Amino acid sequence: MSSPIDKYDCTDCGACCQCFPIFASEDDAAKEPKIQEEGIRVDNFLRKSNLVAYRIYPLPFLETCAFLKEDKLCRIYDTRPEVCRKFLPGSDQCIEARRRKGIA
Ligand code: SF4
Ligand code: SF4
Repeated sequence: MSSPIDKYDCTDCGACCQCFPIFASEDDAAKEPKIQEEGIRVDNFLRKSNLVAYRIYPLPFLETCAFLKEDKLCRIYDTRPEVCRKFLPGSDQCIEARRRKGIA
């Protein structure tokens, strides 16, 4: 039996990396220094928690997450933020992201 994950191909998509605001945590940034270099640090007084420490989408002059490559793959896949790891293909948000980007 196929699962929703089988039905949606992330390798030719990347819609969720350019639709909703994406934040990395302090732990994410400690594991992947590029998050500190290329993301925008959220001011302490605006943070709800350390889970929202760096904004990586949207960013000025970029139409996608800072780490989405032209081939729609993630440049920091092995050390991507926890929120990206938890984002499930076939979830309601996945389907909404694909709809917004015109991906069937
Ligand atoms: S929108 Fe869905 S199918 Fe596309 S990359 Fe994200 S999780 Fe994968
Ligand atoms: S870090 Fe990678 S997986 Fe996460 S939104 Fe950016 S490009 Fe997508």
